[in-house]
Amino acid sequence: MRKDELFPEIESKVEEAVKKGELSRRDALKVLAFASGAAMMGNTELFAEGNETNASDANATPKLKQGMDAKVVIIGGGSAGITVAARLVGADMKPENITLVEPSDKHIYQPGQTLVGGGIKTLDQLIRNEADYIPAGVKWEKEKAVEFMPETNSLKLASGKVLTYDYLVVAAGLQYNFEKIKGLTADMIGKNDIHSIYVPEASPVMWEAMQKAKGGTMLFTNPATPIKCGGAPQKIMYLTEDYMRTNGTRKDAKIEFMSAAGKYFGVPVYHDAVVGFVKEKEILTSFNHNLVEVKAAEKIAVFEKKTKVKVFDKDLGEDVEEEKIELVEKKYDLLHITPPMSPVAEIVKSPFVNNKGWMFVDSETLQSKKFPNVFGIGDLIGTPFGKTGGSVRKQAPVLVANMIALMNGKAMEHKYNGYTVCPLITRRGRVMLAEFGYDKAQTDAKEPVTKAMAMPSFPLDPSQERWIWWIFKVYLLPPMYWYGMLRGRA
Ligand SMILES: Cc1cc2nc3c(=O)[nH]c(=O)nc-3n(C[C@H](O)[C@H](O)[C@H](O)COP(=O)(O)OP(=O)(O)OC[C@H]3O[C@@H](n4cnc5c(N)ncnc54)[C@H](O)[C@@H]3O)c2cc1C
Repeated sequence: MRKDELFPEIESKVEEAVKKGELSRRDALKVLAFASGAAMMGNTELFAEGNETNASDANATPKLKQGMDAKVVIIGGGSAGITVAARLVGADMKPENITLVEPSDKHIYQPGQTLVGGGIKTLDQLIRNEADYIPAGVKWEKEKAVEFMPETNSLKLASGKVLTYDYLVVAAGLQYNFEKIKGLTADMIGKNDIHSIYVPEASPVMWEAMQKAKGGTMLFTNPATPIKCGGAPQKIMYLTEDYMRTNGTRKDAKIEFMSAAGKYFGVPVYHDAVVGFVKEKEILTSFNHNLVEVKAAEKIAVFEKKTKVKVFDKDLGEDVEEEKIELVEKKYDLLHITPPMSPVAEIVKSPFVNNKGWMFVDSETLQSKKFPNVFGIGDLIGTPFGKTGGSVRKQAPVLVANMIALMNGKAMEHKYNGYTVCPLITRRGRVMLAEFGYDKAQTDAKEPVTKAMAMPSFPLDPSQERWIWWIFKVYLLPPMYWYGMLRGRA
């Protein structure tokens, strides 16, 4: 995005926030000073969620030559689908050769749902018309893709219409599997003290509940599957804790993080920082506890607790470690659920997935491991991390550059480095910017990536909660998303 376009956008948003009383004049001046400094430097990366991947700079994206008439179909018009469409057009692809398949006529800025749950934004501030973000000339099929026939480069839409393509981009995101928890259905969310900011329309209900809460046991769950924005289950818990502390109800509340994982974060520097935050906030944590049932009438949540125990093996004649699973019941007054997630059903049953139902792509080039003219991007890809909007921002230029290289008969040299960002809200007014990606030692050694390493974009201690990252999250990232990323400019 050019600096002369960027700064006025931010300026008008900041002004709007001041008018609505969301931002003090003093803070507004600080934001604008920061924004203008960055814009003056021409460093739009400063606004972006993260550092650059190898050779993935937008300016380095090759333009189309031989593949001018290639037909591209993009499945999903969320963060990833729209960004890829914009970048393909920016690389001189004819818009009429691109088809976007997206059933929804609304586009939601999902990272804002946590802020709605915490009473910092309203839901209507996050929703815009999809049509306004589809690049001019790109064809829009406003329905779902339901079946894929990659042997004939074709796919079927819900209406039965068949589309053909030369190249396919799969960006259909994730679905929430509330039904995998016994006793629970999606329509129970936002009612009877069961909440989830993952459901857009239930996020304002969480804010109401926070204000009404007088204390009691408040459970915040984290499931056993990969999820979008791994930090969101914690963010809403910290916002709740902070709100109750300020309004005097915290002393009567027992707040517990019930996580199927064994750590807060896979990267030690962020995990250790969170250990400090939760201690200070007197939040209790139970790791290796997976929510498996909700007895809504009795307000009981049931968890599967996994522990390692030593048992004597008669054949070996020695102690061996075994996993012990037991059920733990907990009464709750408020239950915030982060549901188990998977790619959407149409993708899980497609020929594009690995044995766990996730899009099977090369974790660096994003090309399908099964069909060379197919690429995957966004939440549904089966890479170890990278389930954030910030990851999409880094993946899109890589995918587009590699697809164009393929169209032009060249080698795919662009690589995604696993960049993932979690602006972890630790309380109102403070954020720890947790940035991480694939462990370099593993990628250098061409090993499957199992470990994450910290990838801070700024020369600041990444384990510190800071005011500036709060301003970044609440005021700068939304305009960067709508005007920068979705336009293929940042
Ligand atoms: C509560 C919450 C907090 C978050 N916080 C952050 C954060 O702080 N920072 C951050 O960077 N990210 C955050 N994220 C994650 C971020 O929003 C996602 O990573 C990002 O939206 C992924 O983009 P995507 O295009 O893969 O999926 P989506 O944006 O979900 O888009 C998928 C699209 O595919 C469409 N679709 C589904 N099925 C089909 C089909 N069969 N055919 C055609 N189209 C289909 C859907 O309608 C949808 O529009 C958060 C998300 C949530 C929910």
